Amino acid sequence: MQNPTTVEACLRQAQSHGLERVDAQILLLHSLQRTLHDRAWLLAHDSDSLTPAQSAAWHEALQRRLQGEPVAYITGLKDFFGLTLAVDARVLDPRPDTETLVEWALTCLPEFKPESRSESTPAPSNGSPRILDLGTGSGAVALALQHTRPDATVWAVDASEDALAVARANAARLQLGVQFIASDWLNAVDVQHTGRFDLIVSNPPYVAEGDPHLAALTHEPLQALTSGPDGLDDIRQIIAQAPTFLSPGGWLLLEHGWDQAAPVQALLREAGFEQVQSRRDLSDIERCTGAAMPK
Ligand code: GLN
Repeated sequence: MQNPTTVEACLRQAQSHGLERVDAQILLLHSLQRTLHDRAWLLAHDSDSLTPAQSAAWHEALQRRLQGEPVAYITGLKDFFGLTLAVDARVLDPRPDTETLVEWALTCLPEFKPESRSESTPAPSNGSPRILDLGTGSGAVALALQHTRPDATVWAVDASEDALAVARANAARLQLGVQFIASDWLNAVDVQHTGRFDLIVSNPPYVAEGDPHLAALTHEPLQALTSGPDGLDDIRQIIAQAPTFLSPGGWLLLEHGWDQAAPVQALLREAGFEQVQSRRDLSDIERCTGAAMPK
C-alpha cells in the first residue's frame, strides 16, 4: 500500500478500500492528532500534506480498520449519548443502538424537579431515583443516565474486573458519581445495602453461540457478546433475578437481538411482570424490551 501524502489522498485511499467516509475521517483526525469532532477541519485542509509520522500513523490505523478492528479501539474513544468515553478491547464498543435503551430508561424515571418538590408532590423513595446498570462494560449506559439525571443514584455492575477498570476510569474522568459493584449479574448485589431499584437496565450479551454474525466481531470480548445456544441465557438469568431487586412498579429494560423481542416479552410475562413492551432502534428493529413490576 502506497503512503498518500495529503489529507484528500488519504480519504480517497480509504474509500478505495471500502471504508465508510465517517470512519476514514475519524481515523485520519486521530492520525493527525486532532480532535475527532473536527471533521469540518478536514474539508478545509484537503490539500494539506502529512508529516512522515502522521503518514505512518495513518497507515497503521487504516491497516487495523481493514482487519476489522472497531474505529473506537483504534482511536481509544467513542461518543455515546453526548459523552466521550475511553474504550479499548477490554469492553464492548458502545453502539448507537444502545442509545435507544438510555432514551427509554429516562422516560421510566419520575420527572426531574430540582427546585419545586413540594408537600403535594411526593418524592420517590429517598427523593432520588435508584438505577442499576447490569453488565456496564465501558460504563456507557450508567454514565449517560447519571449525566442526564444528576439527581439519580446510579449503580453499575460487571463480572469483568477489566471492564470495571475501564468504566471506573470513565466515571472519574467525566466526574460522574456512579457506584460500581463487581458481580456476576445480581449474585453479589446486596439489596440491604443498595436498597431496591426503581429501574434496572442492561445491554447483556445476547448473540447465539455459533452465530455467523460473530465472525465480524472478533476484536470484541466474546463474554460481552455470546450467551448460550439461543443467545438468551443471560437475559433469562436477569429476568429471574430482577424481581427481588426492584421496587413495586419498578422497570426492567433489556437490549436484545433483532429477533428476540417475542421471546423476551414471553419471559417477562412468565416472571410476573406487567406492561410488557418493546422499543425500536435507529434501524427500526425491535431492539429493547421491558416491563414493570406490579405496584
Ligand atoms: N449489538 C451487538 C451486535 O450484535 C451485540 C451486543 C450485545 O451482545 N450486547 O453487534
